[in-house]
Amino acid sequence: IDRNPGETEFHQAVREVLDSLEPVIMKYPKYADHRIIERICEPERQIIFRVPWTDDKGNIHINRGFRVEFNSALGPYKGGLRFHESVYLGIIKFLGFEQIFKNALTGMPIGGGKGGSDFNPKGRSDAEIMRFCQSFMTELYRHLGEYTDVPAGDIGVGGREIGYMFGQYKRITNRYEAGVLTGKGLSWGGSLVRTEATGYGAVYFVNEMLKTKKDSFEGKTCVVSGSGNVAIYTVEKINHLGGKVVAMSDSNGYIYDKRGVDLSLVKQLKEVERRRIKDYCDTYKGATYVEGGNIWEVPCQVAMPSATQNELDEKDAEMLVKNGCIAVGEGANMPTTPEGTKVFLNAGVLFGPGKAANAGGVATSALEMQQNASRDSWTFEYTEKRLHEIMIGIHKACYEQSAEFGQPGNYILGANIASFRKVADAMISQGLI
Ligand code: NDP
Repeated sequence: IDRNPGETEFHQAVREVLDSLEPVIMKYPKYADHRIIERICEPERQIIFRVPWTDDKGNIHINRGFRVEFNSALGPYKGGLRFHESVYLGIIKFLGFEQIFKNALTGMPIGGGKGGSDFNPKGRSDAEIMRFCQSFMTELYRHLGEYTDVPAGDIGVGGREIGYMFGQYKRITNRYEAGVLTGKGLSWGGSLVRTEATGYGAVYFVNEMLKTKKDSFEGKTCVVSGSGNVAIYTVEKINHLGGKVVAMSDSNGYIYDKRGVDLSLVKQLKEVERRRIKDYCDTYKGATYVEGGNIWEVPCQVAMPSATQNELDEKDAEMLVKNGCIAVGEGANMPTTPEGTKVFLNAGVLFGPGKAANAGGVATSALEMQQNASRDSWTFEYTEKRLHEIMIGIHKACYEQSAEFGQPGNYILGANIASFRKVADAMISQGLI
């Protein structure tokens, strides 16, 4: 904490991982001998830079850009870029740290990194977004490369932003290096299923957890927070598996539709028109919008927090348990506070932590890199099958490690241990670097 003052979210993420690792360190002293804990908590490289840009009126703005290249033991740094006004070093480091372990769980050859900016894209014109992305990439490009560091999207960064950044990278380097960014458009190196991957993967993970109790999504009432990329495709896959999502949200409030949310309307509002979730009620008078409301007050059997960090606290967890929630799958990164997590574990709720449950996105990014490297593009069915197999594999690895260390079904423990061992063993093999 003294070494990284003020980085609250980073401290939280590290503490959660370290809490799980005591039994592994006891069992395998080599990790202590090689000082792996100290090394793994220190990013290999941190880059902070100025991002100047002009708005449509000609006013000059200065934002701060970040890229934390955390760990390359398993492959090039890989992880998204977040554009949100709350971004500072502590957020990027928490996300980068989580990313190391998440990427290890996928079984793909990718290291961990994360980046972004405190730029707020809300209300900005297309031209302003483009100028910002170009300025951001004008500095970042020198740190990237398909063998070095491969960013993707996150909050505030979708296909449009990746497109502008890719264009600028290509222009500066004079290289059509498709594998330098993932989440690209389908006609220029993107992969089918990447858009859907995080949400679909999270639902597959929860489905595997339910199977251990001989249960499924069929007929379950679900709540999904957020209404961005992860939330939308979480809802889509829940619908495929026979569940019903009755509430979604954004940072202003939530909608409740007891018939089950109409996903095509949500897609139209969010993906095409870039509007707010409350506008859903303009079309469906039967649905209600609760301004400033807490989505976790809506009773459900499965909760999938898919908006942002620390959005579900102890009180919310108690309310969910009281209302009959049996499973939680974290689509977002660290959406449940440590106190909330404890409530779920004590109540025997199946709990899929983000680094396992939402790993489908980055896994499919790695599949996009594979397609780029072989100059190929795969079908939707084949790519989704690969994603599904990867999520089944992640669930299995987490479950097996939780059982080996005496707490079968504690997926937090399982995810942390399975991924740590993989990264730590690679670090030991590669020497003191
Ligand atoms: P989007 O920008 O597409 O959507 C984010 C959603 O979360 C929006 O509905 C947004 O509402 C809401 N939100 C953001 N910040 C807050 C906040 N402070 N309070 C309440 N709601 C908020 O992002 P994604 O869907 O891509 O990302 C969602 C989460 O999933 C993040 O934690 C991200 O790190 C994680 N994730 C994403 C992956 C991906 O592939 N995209 C992969 C793995 C994890 P509003 O519009 O009001 O801000």
